[in-house]
Amino acid sequence: MPDPYINAVAQLDSVKKYIDAPGNLFDQLKTPEHIIRKSISVQMDNGSKKTFVAFRLQHNSARGPYKGGIRFHPQVNEAEMKALSMLMTWKCAVVDIPFGGGKGGIVVDPKSLSEKELERLSRSYMKTFAPYFGAWKDIPAPDVNTNAQIMAWMLDEYIKIQNSKFKIQDDESPYAVLTGKPVELGGSQGREEATGFGGAIVLEQIAKKLKLKRQYTTVAIQGFGNVGYWFAYFADQAGFKVVAASDSKGAIFVPKGMNPELTLAGKKEQGTIAGNYCVGSVCDVKLGKTLAEEDLLQLKVDILVPAALEGSIHKGNAGKVQARTVIEMANAPVTPEADVVLQKKGVLIVPDILSNAGGVTTSYFEWSQNLSGASWKKEVVLQKLREVMETSFDAVWSVSKENNIDLRSAAYVLAVRRVLDAMRLRGTQ
Ligand code: NAD
Repeated sequence: MPDPYINAVAQLDSVKKYIDAPGNLFDQLKTPEHIIRKSISVQMDNGSKKTFVAFRLQHNSARGPYKGGIRFHPQVNEAEMKALSMLMTWKCAVVDIPFGGGKGGIVVDPKSLSEKELERLSRSYMKTFAPYFGAWKDIPAPDVNTNAQIMAWMLDEYIKIQNSKFKIQDDESPYAVLTGKPVELGGSQGREEATGFGGAIVLEQIAKKLKLKRQYTTVAIQGFGNVGYWFAYFADQAGFKVVAASDSKGAIFVPKGMNPELTLAGKKEQGTIAGNYCVGSVCDVKLGKTLAEEDLLQLKVDILVPAALEGSIHKGNAGKVQARTVIEMANAPVTPEADVVLQKKGVLIVPDILSNAGGVTTSYFEWSQNLSGASWKKEVVLQKLREVMETSFDAVWSVSKENNIDLRSAAYVLAVRRVLDAMRLRGTQ
């Protein structure tokens, strides 16, 4: 496995020539501001104590408090955390929200824990890292294998600490310290669909730029989880033709364009997307066919949307991609080697730090609502998100045209310039 931090630094270095900054300032961006590594001890159900390695990485705070998820995964490691916290800095800067980048994690296989052990682990993480978190300091969120319930336990733990004699900050709303909370605890309306919705806005913008007619524009989506489903739903609502989708168990091809809601209902009933072919209000075996999962990536469609896993388009299969445009909805679904192959073939790639930034943007909306005591309706959240995604897409597109560079490089140039501007103005050199 290539070191993700080395990849992240290489990506940063690749845009240096488009950025006017003294070398020392630019180089500061390669190193996180803080690496916090702790051992946390948790009581297991059988009475024994187990120790876990846990991290919080704070990459850059020039534009605002650190922002980024906490993941629970056996492969969590420092290099990955360094890379992901850096990516969060760029993602927040691309969509121009006032946050820097952070990331956290615990080296653990959460499937090996009972519900009670998972709760104790989550609480213990917050107990240990609470001094580093705060609404104006560092705002965590869910990530791989963490969810709204885990945020709720962490919030509860934070409030307990805040109320105890070891006060963290008197004047701070604890609800604004974490995002991705349940709606009942200050979570935002629209957060569930936000990432997929943001991606569908990117699709609309691409169609405009490439002058594609929506009803003839075919879309294949790898992954039909939270992001993939909502992407399909909003793309379909906007008049695009979603002809293929997959999950970990199989893929379907529905040439007339699928009904995502009925497809999801069928998937829930049968435990897999395979065999569910629904067009309009009818589901029928004659309306489609099942594909091998890998074949979805090779379909002759206009738009390919990897929304499942990191590295799913790699040098082994990139040559077979026939789509003209790839919208990256998963994090890093196209490896750097595959990126080169696709670019040589003239494939337009919309990078993850732009196309899946709807999630963190809605986290910013959640934070803003918590700080002001407001609660916005879903339509308001999605309208605000639409504006952010359209503005950010246009900004990246302009940088790409001005410098004659691909969209990934353009997104990096835009983000890195914004971060460096903030650093310069703050005089942190
Ligand atoms: P999820 O767990 O809800 O869904 C993942 C989907 O991918 C599932 O349908 C699963 O069956 C499918 N899948 C797994 N392996 C597959 C394979 N080999 N082939 C095809 N499908 C496969 O996760 P999610 O929240 O939808 O996130 C998807 C990706 O988007 C992840 O990379 C995540 O990091 C990224 N992302 C998510 C958000 C968010 O707000 N949820 C925000 C930014 C980025």
